[in-house]
Amino acid sequence: MEAKDMVCIVCPLGCKLKVIKNEGSQTGYTVEGNKCFRGADYGIKEMTNPTRVLTTTVIIYDAPLNRLPVKTSGAIPKYQIERAMEIINGVEVKAPIKAGQIIIKNILDTGVDVIASRSMYGNYKHEDYLKDYLVQG
Ligand code: SF4
Repeated sequence: MEAKDMVCIVCPLGCKLKVIKNEGSQTGYTVEGNKCFRGADYGIKEMTNPTRVLTTTVIIYDAPLNRLPVKTSGAIPKYQIERAMEIINGVEVKAPIKAGQIIIKNILDTGVDVIASRSMYGNYKHEDYLKDYLVQG
């Protein structure tokens, strides 16, 4: 019997799941240990097409910091993360950048964009930037 243990990461409860191959079930799997339906969906997706939201940084010029935090606007297939990182690592942007601005459109034809996680403005004195940064948290 093919089975896999995993932790559900959909909510902070972190239920311990057991996903068991089950030819008799409509989805092809039975999930145990989940406290809600989202855990069952997560467990089956992890077995069939695992995905992740990717968070990283890109080089930014004319800004107080030299890296801009970015993330994918949605989850992308796990097997494409390495290739996505190669593309993201080749990207350089210039301030100003606004939070949510698209940095890479439709990465790897996934239908998902890479977007700026925060704003970063240029021509700032370092002290002013730190003040804004502390206010934003
Ligand atoms: S199964 Fe439901 S309750 Fe449990 S961690 Fe996943 S989302 Fe949260």
